[in-house]
Amino acid sequence: MEDNTLSKAYDFNATEQRLYAWWEKNGYFQPANDPNKPGFDASKKPFVISIPPPNVTGELHTGHAMFVSMEDLMIRYHRMKGIPALWVPGTDHAGIATQMLVEKALLKEGIKRDELGREKFVERTWQWKEKYGSRITQQIRRLGASCDWTRERFTLDDGLSKAVREAFVRLYEKRLIYRGPRLINWSPALRTAVSDLEVEYSEEPGFLYYFKYMLADLPGEFIPVATTRPETILGDSAVAVHPEDERYQKYIGKEVLVPMLNRRIPVIADEYVDRAFGTGALKITPAHDPNDYTIGQTHNLEMISIFDKAAALNENGGPYAGMDRFDCRKKIWEDMRAAGLVIKEQPYTLNVPRSERGGEIIEPMISTQWFLHVQPLAEKALEAVRSGRTKIVPEHFTKVFYNWLENIRDWCISRQLWWGHRIPVWYCDDCGETIVAREDPAKCPKCGGSHLRQEEDVLDTWFSSGLWPFSTLGWPEQTPDLKYFYPTSVMETGADILFFWVARMLMFGIEFTGVEPFHTIYLHGLILDEHGKKMSKTKGNVIDPLQVMDSFGTDALRFTLLVGSTPGSNTNLNLKKVEANRNFANKIWNAGRFVISALEQAPEKATKEPEWTLADSWIWARLQTLLSDSERLFNTYQFGEAGRQIYEFFWGDFADWYLEIAKSQLAEGGDRAYYTAATLVRVLDASLRLLHPFTPFVTEELWQALKKSAQEKGLSTYSSESKWEDALIIAKWPEAGKAEGWEEERVAQFSLVQEVVRSIRNLRAEKKVPPSKKISASIAGGKHTATLQAQRGSLLTLANLDPANLTIAEKLAAPNDAVSLVVSTVEIFIPFGTLEDSSADPTRVQKEIETLQSQINRLEGLLASDFANKAPAPVVEKERAKLAEYKESLLKLKK
Ligand SMILES: [Zn+2]
Repeated sequence: MEDNTLSKAYDFNATEQRLYAWWEKNGYFQPANDPNKPGFDASKKPFVISIPPPNVTGELHTGHAMFVSMEDLMIRYHRMKGIPALWVPGTDHAGIATQMLVEKALLKEGIKRDELGREKFVERTWQWKEKYGSRITQQIRRLGASCDWTRERFTLDDGLSKAVREAFVRLYEKRLIYRGPRLINWSPALRTAVSDLEVEYSEEPGFLYYFKYMLADLPGEFIPVATTRPETILGDSAVAVHPEDERYQKYIGKEVLVPMLNRRIPVIADEYVDRAFGTGALKITPAHDPNDYTIGQTHNLEMISIFDKAAALNENGGPYAGMDRFDCRKKIWEDMRAAGLVIKEQPYTLNVPRSERGGEIIEPMISTQWFLHVQPLAEKALEAVRSGRTKIVPEHFTKVFYNWLENIRDWCISRQLWWGHRIPVWYCDDCGETIVAREDPAKCPKCGGSHLRQEEDVLDTWFSSGLWPFSTLGWPEQTPDLKYFYPTSVMETGADILFFWVARMLMFGIEFTGVEPFHTIYLHGLILDEHGKKMSKTKGNVIDPLQVMDSFGTDALRFTLLVGSTPGSNTNLNLKKVEANRNFANKIWNAGRFVISALEQAPEKATKEPEWTLADSWIWARLQTLLSDSERLFNTYQFGEAGRQIYEFFWGDFADWYLEIAKSQLAEGGDRAYYTAATLVRVLDASLRLLHPFTPFVTEELWQALKKSAQEKGLSTYSSESKWEDALIIAKWPEAGKAEGWEEERVAQFSLVQEVVRSIRNLRAEKKVPPSKKISASIAGGKHTATLQAQRGSLLTLANLDPANLTIAEKLAAPNDAVSLVVSTVEIFIPFGTLEDSSADPTRVQKEIETLQSQINRLEGLLASDFANKAPAPVVEKERAKLAEYKESLLKLKK
């Protein structure tokens, strides 16, 4: 940035870290209006995002890259709009993931967690966190995330721990939290309860085992029953049949014998039983199956737990006690076969519940856990979305959201882990009192005894992350940050954690602060590989965003993710696209170098008021359209489409067309060169501002150089109202000016020039005319003659025509020895002699006739349809005019 000469190619390696450090050092990531600083204006409405906190154990993956790019885009856009923008960063302590990681590391040293003890283990985990916990945030910085790092939080830091206690105590006092034995999902490998959401169901081959439930008092008679898990027979409390099932009615109220244990259990009637499924009789294991649990409660059946914490059989397993659950499955079946109780086995596809974290099969078990009665909270969250106070983008997720919250069950919030928020409950050994407190109690408030034991369990990680939008701003204290920045604005995250996290934030936010924590939930889909397959280590198709940034630069990765995304839909990430977008960054850079060098050569001052050329007017009008379209797209969360349109404007209109014309305008020197340079500066300035939220690095670097050169020439920015700010990151967002009335006509005129140029270029390509060769042409312009004559210079440059042999007239007699091209009502004649291949190509004319004929047919069809009645009159009129022009062109060609 020292002088005006920019390196030939954009060097992202030399740029990204330097710019990021410079932005951060200058405080640009902090909100412009800060309630903790003098001059604060409470009336300015801020824009706030809380980052979905990545796990401290996290390694940057494409999912992170997606949400960081998307949120950074929103933050940068609002910051440039002059809205105080705050993006609160932080990390999650990730209970199970972190504990597993530290346990593994300890095992390498030969230490088991239990030998170390809780206190030492937690200490070691904190040491791990201090050492590696900032790895993920460093990686997020590389993506260009303009988070306010001075406000970074961690779910286990002091403030957030205080918030968790406050929340727990309040819910307990409202009697929404309770402790009791319930059927939960148990992870035998991790030895902890896991939530319904952390269980993944996978279809796997298995068997349906058919066997006899012998009647206790009717020798030889039995009820046939089928199960997929024979080991659970040991925990059966009943056999259930449909009350109207004629096969089994006679047995209702009688008793059957549990195989191998000979324990007597009743035959019960329940309408829940499906007579047509299997044998029509069900074994009921209330302690190890969610449906049986419900039936067990209705019929007041005994709950017989048969597993220990490792899912081995306990003393209720009789002869099988101590055996692993899967060994027991084989053994009991063999024994039953020997006893003559087996009927048959039949292959069957199972829906196996597996732990999302460890992969082992989850066992439903009765366990004493802490639960949150969620339903009253869920009702308020439902109401928030139904009333529109919180919107979900895309909308189709709303239905899924309703369905989930309407059927929500109590949330098991306790985990048998050491790393996490320990539940703030103490038990008095002297009098048995249970104490729930915000501060650690020293003695029992009931008996005064000091033999207190704190609850061993910690809270589910999602309990603390559910408080995230307000706990990070200081809640439960009424801090200036909380008062000003809460509620936040948009919650942007992956659709896959809508229930895990977003729904819980909504419920907790309303419960504890009385308002919805955000007005919009924006969901993005998964990032898949280029073939639309889920990335997985086993498939070997994982794309590492760090490597992608090393190879192509951060801007290229961001632009690919952002432009490829539509709300809620999955995005296929293709490295070829990233490479193409690296080329786009280079295109921006090269266009910038051209503009800066043009500036240097332009005169110091203009002598007269500007006379804008058609190209000047056209690019300006196109820019205005782009500005208003982008604004609309940004406001409706269609960022991908906005990016695509900005890209096309920059590469197509600006770089391919205007820059080419500017070359000859600059060559004219004088005022023409001065005003051309001014237009180049203003359009480039606006484009860089528009592109900045997508590709922050290349735009800032180039803009700084542009600013320096433009200021030396005394040239203004895009808008006379804005100025050359200190940095692009805090520069004003460009807005469309008011239309002045000339735009439509000038754009139409330029489009005609483009069409003429395109048709000549196509012919040149078809005839393989060398690019350097200037060719002759005569143009019959008809009513467009004046426009074309005025654009003689542009036509010469863009179509590479010979200035000595270019005729433009209203009417021309069609020469015999020329190719004729027709554009609208304009006829272009290119003499055969000027083209290398001097034979006329009747197939080309034939092709053009066919194209025109099909367009005419299409338009005639359209105008004869309902369209003519339904579409607005000017639109229909336009189509009619087009039709007339096509018909005229066709006549000329046929001649
Ligand atoms: Zn006591």
